[in-house]
Amino acid sequence: MAEVVLVLNAGSSSIKFEVFRSRSSALEVALRGQISGIGTRPRFVAKDAAGTVVEERSWSASPGPDEEALLGELIAWIEDHLGGERLVAAGHRVVHGGSRYADPVLVTGPVLDALETLVPLAPLHQPHNLSAIRALAAAHPALPQVACFDTAFHRGHADAVSRFALPRALHDEGIRRYGFHGLSYAYVSRELARLAPDVAAGKVVIAHLGSGASLCAVEDGVSVDSTMGFTAIDGLPMGTRCGSLDAGVVLHLLEAKGMSAAEVQRLLYTQSGLLGVSGISNDMRDLLASDRPEAAQAIDLFVHRIVREIGALAATMGGLDGLVFTAGIGERSPDIREAVCRRLGWLGLDLCPDANRRGSLRVSTPGSRVAAWVIPTDEERMIALHTLDVLASAAMDPSRKELVQ
Ligand code: AMP
Repeated sequence: MAEVVLVLNAGSSSIKFEVFRSRSSALEVALRGQISGIGTRPRFVAKDAAGTVVEERSWSASPGPDEEALLGELIAWIEDHLGGERLVAAGHRVVHGGSRYADPVLVTGPVLDALETLVPLAPLHQPHNLSAIRALAAAHPALPQVACFDTAFHRGHADAVSRFALPRALHDEGIRRYGFHGLSYAYVSRELARLAPDVAAGKVVIAHLGSGASLCAVEDGVSVDSTMGFTAIDGLPMGTRCGSLDAGVVLHLLEAKGMSAAEVQRLLYTQSGLLGVSGISNDMRDLLASDRPEAAQAIDLFVHRIVREIGALAATMGGLDGLVFTAGIGERSPDIREAVCRRLGWLGLDLCPDANRRGSLRVSTPGSRVAAWVIPTDEERMIALHTLDVLASAAMDPSRKELVQ
C-alpha cells in the first residue's frame, strides 16, 4: 500500500498543503490546497492532482474555528479522500533552523523548544510554522512531524561567509548570515545532478527569482555562499522587499525621518523592491508589459543586481560552470533570463536565444563554456522527500525520542 505524506507551509493567516503518495519510489501529488483566512473567516479549498477543485468549505462566523480545529478537519478530510491509504507523517516548512540544524529533523518536545528560541531571528514566519506543528500535534498526537528548514542547506558556509563584521558577541548570539530558500536550492541541485551530473559536480549559481529572490553558490552540490543573510530581505531586490541596503539608510529613516521600527519594517518588506522602484506593481509580468520608464528602471535594477551578485558568487567559488534559473520569474521569463545572460558573456556564458524562448531545460549553446539551465523548483516535493528520509532513519534508530505532545 502507498504511504502518504502531508506537507504544510504555514503563514500568518493561511496554511498551504500538499499531499504526496509514495509508490514504488516515485512521489505523486494526490491533493493540494490551502486553508486561508485563519483567525477571521476561514476558507478551505482542495484540488486534485489535475487541479480540479474537489472541496470548498467556508465558515461565515468570525473568527471561525482555530488552527487546531482546522488542521484536525484537514487531516480527517484527507484521510477520507485517500481510499484507505495511510497518512504516515507531516513535513513542515520551517524558515529557521539556526546554527544548530543542518538537516531536517523529527519534531520532539525538545526540538520544538529549540526552534522556539529562534523566533526572534524570524519573527514574521517562525511563530506560524511552529504553531502549525503544535496545532497538528494536538489534533493528531500520533502523527510523526518533520521540520524542514530554509536555512539548513546553507549550514556549512565558511566562517568568512557567514560572519558580519560586527563585534564577536553579536555573532555568538546568532546575528550572522544564514541564507534562505534552502529547500528550493536543495531540490534544484538534486535535479541538476540528475539532468547534468558533470555541471552539478562543478561550480554553479542557482538563481531563485520569484516574488522572493536570492542566489546561491553551489559547489559539487554543497552551498558555499548565498545573497541572503540574517533575514529574507537581504541580497537581491524582490517583489516588495528591498534587498541589500546600506545600514545607514535604516538609521536615517529611524533618526532623521522619525519613522518607527514597525514603519521601517513595513517599508523594507512590503513597499520596496520592484513595487517601490516602479510605483506600478510587484509583478514582473506587469513591468515587462508596461512602457513606462519607471517599469524599465525597476527591471534594469533587478537585472543589474543579479548580474553583480553572480559575479561576486563566481569570485567566491573561483569560477563558474553553470547557472540555473528557477522560481516564478526564473522559470517563466525568457526576457529576464536573456537580459541576465547577455551580461555574462565575459564569464563564458553563451545563451541560445531559441532554446531560451522555446522553454528548453538547457538554454545555453552547445559550445557555451558556462551551461545555463532552467529547472522548475518544487519545495513541497523536497519537504516530502526529506520527511520520508527522516522517517526511514527514525524507524531504524532505537533511541528515537517521544514525538511532540
Ligand atoms: P514565485 O514566488 O516563485 O511563485 O514567483 C511569483 C512571481 O513570478 C510573480 O510575482 C511574478 O512576478 C513572476 N512571474 C510569474 N510568471 C511570470 C512570467 N510569465 N513572466 C515574468 N514573471 C513572471
